[in-house]
Order: sequence, then C-alpha cells, then structure tokens
Amino acid sequence: MKAVEWHGKKDVRVNSKRPMPLVTDPRDVVLQVTSSAICGSDLHLYLGNMLGMVPGDILGHEFMGVVHEVGPDVKSVKKGDRVVVCFDIGCGECYFCSKLQAFSCCGNTNPSQEEKAMYGDRTAGFFGYSHLTGGYPGGQAEYVRVPFADVNTLKVPENLSDEKVVLLSDILPTAWHANELGEVGQGDVVAIWGAGPVGILAAHCAQARGAKEVFLIDAVQYRLDFAKQKLPGLRTINFKQEKVYEALRKVASHGIDVGIDAVGMHYADSVLHKLQMMTMLETDTPEIVNDIVYNVRKGGRVSIVGAYAGYTNHFNLGAFMEKSLTMRGGQTPVQKYWKHLLELVQKSQLNPSLVITHQQPLEKAPELYKTFNDKVDNCIKVVMHPGL
Ligand code: NAD
Ligand code: ZN
Repeated sequence: MKAVEWHGKKDVRVNSKRPMPLVTDPRDVVLQVTSSAICGSDLHLYLGNMLGMVPGDILGHEFMGVVHEVGPDVKSVKKGDRVVVCFDIGCGECYFCSKLQAFSCCGNTNPSQEEKAMYGDRTAGFFGYSHLTGGYPGGQAEYVRVPFADVNTLKVPENLSDEKVVLLSDILPTAWHANELGEVGQGDVVAIWGAGPVGILAAHCAQARGAKEVFLIDAVQYRLDFAKQKLPGLRTINFKQEKVYEALRKVASHGIDVGIDAVGMHYADSVLHKLQMMTMLETDTPEIVNDIVYNVRKGGRVSIVGAYAGYTNHFNLGAFMEKSLTMRGGQTPVQKYWKHLLELVQKSQLNPSLVITHQQPLEKAPELYKTFNDKVDNCIKVVMHPGL
C-alpha cells in the first residue's frame, strides 16, 4: 500500500510498497483511509523538532475512512462503516480514560523511565507521532490499524461529506478544547494567538459559544484576511504592524477575559540538539504565553493548546500569581467532545470545513507539506485522499 513516510528534517516521501496493516489485537480494526489531513503538529515532526522519529515512520493522525477488517472483540463498528478516528489513542479502561474522561492522558502504553521523567506517569498513544507516543503507524496511508476501535472511532452519517467531518479527528475538538479550558462563554472578549487552522477554528468556536469579541493574532496577513472573510465580526491583529496590547485595550479596557495559545513551540531548530544535550526539552519560542499573561485581565483565563515539550521561555510566574490567573493546557481528549461536536456540525452550528483550502491525492504529500509549512499558495489546511 501507499503511505507517507518521515525520513528526516523536511524529508517526507511516499512509499507505495508498504505492507498492509493487520488486526493484531482482538479490539483492532483496519481502516481504509479516505481522507487524511496534515496537522500543524505534523510540522513539528517535519521540522525535526520532536525526538523519537525513526526514518520510515508513517505520518498522519487526523483521518477517517471505511472499516476494512474488524477484530473479534470490536462491538461498535462493522466492516463497511464510515468512521472518523481520533488522533489520541485511548484504551477506554485505564484510570485516566475511565475516571477522568481524559483520553489524551491514557496510561496504556507503558512509558519508559525517561518518558515518565519527561511526561509524567503516562504516555498517551498518538498515531504517526514518534516513538515517544507509542510509535503507532499513522493514517497518511491507504490503510491503518486502529487500536481499541470501540473507543477511538466515531461513526458518521452518510449525508455528511468527508470534508465536513474529517476534522472531528483532531482540530475541531482541539479548537473546542481551547475554549473549554478558557471557559469561553457569553460576553467574553477572547484573543487567540495563531491564525493557523487551529486558531481559526478556535475563533469559530468562540463565536459559536457567544463570545462578544474575538481577536485573531498572527503576522501572516493572508491567514488573517482569510479568517476575517470566513468569520464575520472577527477582529484581526497583525503583530508586525500593530501593537497587540494597544489594540486589545481599545476594546477591553481591563484586559481580555481569555487568551488562547494556538501557536505552540514554534519551529525552533535547536530543540533536538538541546534535547540530546540535556534530556529535557527547552524551546526557543516566541514568548507567546508571557504575551497572553500580559494581555489577560486580572482573574482572567489562559488556555494553551499549542504544542510544547519540556521547559519553555522564562515564564512570568509573578504576573500570573499577582493577577490571579487560571492557566490550563493539554492535548485534546477528542473522544470527550466528538459526539457533541458532530451534532453541532449536523445542525450547521459549526463548520470545520471552512479552513480546508487544499485537497489533493496522497502522492502529493511532499509538496503539500512544503506548501503548508512555508505558508504559500494561501494555504490554511490540507486534506489528502489516498483514493484520488
Ligand atoms: P500552524 O503552524 O498552521 O499555525 C500556527 C500559526 O501561528 C501560524 O499561522 C503562524 O504564523 C502563527 N504564529 C507563529 N508565531 C506567532 C506569534 N508569535 N504570535 C501569533 N501567531 C504566531 O498550525 P495549526 O495546525 O494551526 O496548529 C497550531 C498549534 O496547535 C500547533 O502547535 C499544533 O501542534 C497544536 N495542536 C495541538 C493539539 C492539542 O491537542 N493540544 C491538537 C492539534 C494541534
Ligand atoms: Zn494534530
């Protein structure tokens, strides 16, 4: 079968001779992939900023398709069902999955001592996302094995196209999670750093939840223009042209209610080197979290869904404490939200497909990764189709 492989920094290849995945556990299904997106998190791999990748690893964690083969213990889906798969693999049974509904904290994959030191007593499994997170082959492929299929697949109605539902796999729930962590509600003034697909959908969700004003902050003007056109009423700030603090204070004199980080560790070339030197990561990122702390009002909320690893920045703990802020972050427990979000999509209250700008065959992966990373060709979100 065809699959998109990681071979090193900015080196993504399509291999058409990968063996078909098999059901190896009674709770597995094998999925025939119909749509598979490139996520901003894939760029951390593309840029060589995550440890634990091995040349030849199959990429992709945001995908859907048709169930091709079913393990004997799977109850909720059958061959031929059309399903979305969540990026984080939960077992559905461990303390984290069952007690806290926090599937992204699933403790199923037996972390090594080093991983425990870095991530705590858990290593969530992610598809196509390095051997630090389980080494599961990803879904940028014709077929993929989906472990614990009863927990990690969601059946979708035939009347909703792939385009409408594929992003339930990751970035729509992530955008929603950002709002949940920030407790965004009626009348709030919300600012979101990062006008990538996650930031734009976070703005979409904030509007749907009744926020009074929503700001999107970036320096890539075409992304800000795109978002403004898609989301009427949205305000944008190009931080290279305007002072963020002043623009926000004009609307929120005490400071914003909620600040969301939808940027993450921003492409620091030195991360890998530092990790090798120090075991723990330290990322040279723009000071986004400190910017948010600076701009949020007293008693406000800081929500971090941008991905980080290890130590980052010199965090302004003093301001955080003195301003009585709440700060939360995390990988998205997709399974917690996706049924509700599917309903909102069905009722047209949310439309995740608004961010999709590029739909191409899987074979085009090398150039599509480059286009998405380089932010050219007005690219916001890429979805690839193995069957095209
Ligand atoms: P993306 O790379 O397309 O978007 C990031 C945007 O941030 C870009 O438009 C970039 O120009 C902008 N940016 C860079 N520096 C900035 C700064 N200082 N201030 C404001 N904007 C800045 O990625 P995406 O797909 O939108 O994903 C965004 C982040 O969310 C990534 O870090 C990704 O790993 C993370 N993510 C997290 C989860 C989760 O479960 N928490 C899930 C999906 C994605
Ligand atoms: Zn992702």
